[in-house]
Amino acid sequence: MSGSAETIGDLGEGATLARIFPLLPESSRTILGPGDDCAIVDVPGGRVPLTTDLMIEGPDFIIGLSTGYDIGWKACATNLADIAAMGATPTALVVGLAAPSTTAVTFVENIARGFHDAAKLLAPGCGVVGGDLSRGPVVMLAVTATGDFDGVTPVTRAGAQIGHLVAVAGQLGGAKRGLDLLLEHALVDGQPNPAAVDELWAAHPADIGAQLRPEPPIAAGRAAALAGASAMMDVSDGLVLDARRIATASGVAIDLDLAAIGSLEALTGGEDHAMLACFPPLATIPPGFRVIGRVASGEGVVVDGAPFDARGGWDPFAD
Ligand SMILES: [Mg+2]
Repeated sequence: MSGSAETIGDLGEGATLARIFPLLPESSRTILGPGDDCAIVDVPGGRVPLTTDLMIEGPDFIIGLSTGYDIGWKACATNLADIAAMGATPTALVVGLAAPSTTAVTFVENIARGFHDAAKLLAPGCGVVGGDLSRGPVVMLAVTATGDFDGVTPVTRAGAQIGHLVAVAGQLGGAKRGLDLLLEHALVDGQPNPAAVDELWAAHPADIGAQLRPEPPIAAGRAAALAGASAMMDVSDGLVLDARRIATASGVAIDLDLAAIGSLEALTGGEDHAMLACFPPLATIPPGFRVIGRVASGEGVVVDGAPFDARGGWDPFAD
């Protein structure tokens, strides 16, 4: 990232920001955009979902496995998914970025391009309305997102009731397969090999894409809320683990149907940010959702009626 390329240390904060701003996605709800002490965003509904997420070089991504574009894309997509998982439509993001002064300007510009393209594809009208840039020992991104409920009731994790159907929109397991491929084939003695990443993209575009540039079904969140979803969340840590969070918050059990889910690995793979929702039995399940189980009395998650961890010794703390 250093060498002869122009760095953010060469340019300084102001000039670097001037390069980034035109690349960022614009919010259709902006009343006042970047440049003042705060941005101002229109929120006609009056209730504001807020979420924030940190991505740190090392624990959250490895430069060389992920490009700047990938990092921007994923930081955007994961925050959009959290807003959607409440039933809201994402409207605005603020982005804090810290990076070493030796970081190439093009790397930072590519982060902005990743934000732009992810927002445009997944949540048109949502944009970056502000942020901050600083120097840090590694690349660090802090993204805060907000949205608009626009007439729907917020959907928490706590409303699932016995007899409700459990459904999911989006894919399960691809991001984990992509991560396994990257760690197995593109890390050599702990060093990333970008050429190997390119080969994996060519050979396994769906799985590598799911890991590096996830495409959560953002519109499905609002569709679920409109259809009367009783509980919802995005699947970030694996279907069983996250379904257990809904079960615990709602004081019920969730019984998953393995045949409907399709594979064992779809039970535990994380980072796909599919929408997991519960619906009353007479609700019309929105397009894009498939029923994968039902809400039962008791607690925790069972698969085909049996405790899941009795099947394969799955341990939520194993990794
Ligand atoms: Mg979430």
